[in-house]
Amino acid sequence: MLGEVLLAAGAITAPQLEHALAEQRVTGALLGETLLALTFITEATLASALAQQAGVPFMTLTHELPDPIALALVPEPFARKHTLAPLEVKGAVLRIVQANPFDVIALDDLRRLTSHRVAATCAPAGQVRDLLDRCYGRRGRGGVFARPFAEPAVVSVAQTTEGTQLLDRLVGEAVANQATDLHVEPSEESAAVRYRIDGVFVPGDAVPTPSYMSFRSHIKALSGLDVNDTRAAQYGRTSHVVNGRRIDLLVNTIPGTSGEMIAIRLLEKGREPRRLPELGLSRRDLSVVSELLERPQGLAIVTGPEASGTSTTLYAMLAHVGGESRNVVTLENPVECHVSGIRQTQIRPQAGFTYATAMRSVLRENPAVLMLGEMPDSDTADMAMKAATSGILVLTTLRTADAASAVLRLTDLGLDSYAVASGLLGVIGQRLIRLICRECTERVSYGDEMVGQVGLTPDPDLVFQRGRGCAHCRGTGYRGRTGAFETLVVDAAMQVLIRSRGDTTQLTAAAVDAGMKTLMDDALAKAILQQTTLEEVLRVAGIGTKESGIGH
Ligand SMILES: [Zn+2]
Repeated sequence: MLGEVLLAAGAITAPQLEHALAEQRVTGALLGETLLALTFITEATLASALAQQAGVPFMTLTHELPDPIALALVPEPFARKHTLAPLEVKGAVLRIVQANPFDVIALDDLRRLTSHRVAATCAPAGQVRDLLDRCYGRRGRGGVFARPFAEPAVVSVAQTTEGTQLLDRLVGEAVANQATDLHVEPSEESAAVRYRIDGVFVPGDAVPTPSYMSFRSHIKALSGLDVNDTRAAQYGRTSHVVNGRRIDLLVNTIPGTSGEMIAIRLLEKGREPRRLPELGLSRRDLSVVSELLERPQGLAIVTGPEASGTSTTLYAMLAHVGGESRNVVTLENPVECHVSGIRQTQIRPQAGFTYATAMRSVLRENPAVLMLGEMPDSDTADMAMKAATSGILVLTTLRTADAASAVLRLTDLGLDSYAVASGLLGVIGQRLIRLICRECTERVSYGDEMVGQVGLTPDPDLVFQRGRGCAHCRGTGYRGRTGAFETLVVDAAMQVLIRSRGDTTQLTAAAVDAGMKTLMDDALAKAILQQTTLEEVLRVAGIGTKESGIGH
């Protein structure tokens, strides 16, 4: 089986396999997908193991292009649907490359479709998709063999060619790098471009001032802003299509001494919520969270500073309960991600439609599960707690440093400590930590002092890794992020402590006695599993978040 192939190749360790198999039993996902989601292996490792298991040749694609005859045989939608690409035709044989060598049905269809015999090789899915983009062109851009593309215009505002091209390029690069934000800031000769990737700003190529001017007018017109007003901060939104995916752009203009900065937040429309096992929860935390969601009523809180991944966790929880045919309703501002099977409502405080007013109408419908994007005031907190003690499972977020502080925040919001003790089910505290880039890992030896600083005893068997820095991670040594968590469960002992107004130290100690692993310990476990570095553990668990800007 796949697990054995990967074990034998030394690509994963036995504990990693065991962990993945345990999660797989919960989710029912494929083992390969689970290992990828846990970032135990890369796409390339998976493809190579699948190829070996299926007995087909494995290849690495770099700048290949198929021969035109082969390309003409395979329709683009079919190729994209099955993540396979034509390579060449030799006599009666069509040679192709596919991401999943076990997709033999696709091969059968291809044989019928092309009247050729099909010889398959296997390559990583991302490389196959890149090859497809080279063959058929990215939407709106055109590849080597692109046919004229008839995408309807997204907006009907007068556009300058230069502004359009620059917007295409910048948003395209942002999406390709999975950036959440794009900033363009003018100085004297040129404008600096910065992308926010994995929570950190990294520079892009600067653009000449005249291009920046066209870009600025273009994006302002598209987002419905006053193009001529450069002194006031303005806010608008538009959307843009990249590779067939529609991306929402939240556009801010910020006046500065050397001109107007354009700050764009990117939100993918139709983005699927993550699933609980993909968030980085330990096995215990995953089962704690799943059990919280089984409860018929009560309040469950996800907490962390800005940009610590709390909304992602909340959406994963919603997707989990949404699949169970319970009546699920949300109140959010903004709705960041659409979840199928549940009813989501946008709060509009400026129009008088606040959390408190919205809750009054929603509660009349008697939902089984209610999600509040936040609890901004004591009115909302009070109603949320009443709902949580009258047959509704209420999910929400707070902005506190750790799980114990969230318990105390509830009393700060005016809730009675007896009500908190009986209504609160549990708190999930979290941070986002950066993952080591899998393309440039190397072993690293930390001094005893560093090891002591994170609370470990120096031990020669402890092996740590870091990223050397390469093109894939833009020299940072990190690529992608995962969560570090702590899950505080309100059991009988915790109820007593909450009623007697215990402080955060006492609450945390009681939770640890009951089996909670703290944020720091969870982050540390991820460093020991070689998913992240000790520097990252210290950065994240040591002193909260230092990240700037808006996050999610
Ligand atoms: Zn790297």
